[in-house]
Amino acid sequence: MTSEDLNKWIACDQCNSAQALYLVKLMDGELAFCGHHFNKNKEALDKVSYEIVELDRKEAVPQLEKEEV
Ligand SMILES: [Zn+2]
Repeated sequence: MTSEDLNKWIACDQCNSAQALYLVKLMDGELAFCGHHFNKNKEALDKVSYEIVELDRKEAVPQLEKEEV
């Protein structure tokens, strides 16, 4: 795997095999989830996250347009 692959393809932190479609931002870091695991953990994530970014499959780099604290 090259660093280029890492930039384009973020793996789900839960299963490490599916492509992450959601980036959940926490106060002390961030977690990536595929659709399956995002839905599975959604209720808990809503409580602890301050922002949830939907990742575009083509452009895997999320852009921070607004930053609210
Ligand atoms: Zn997963």
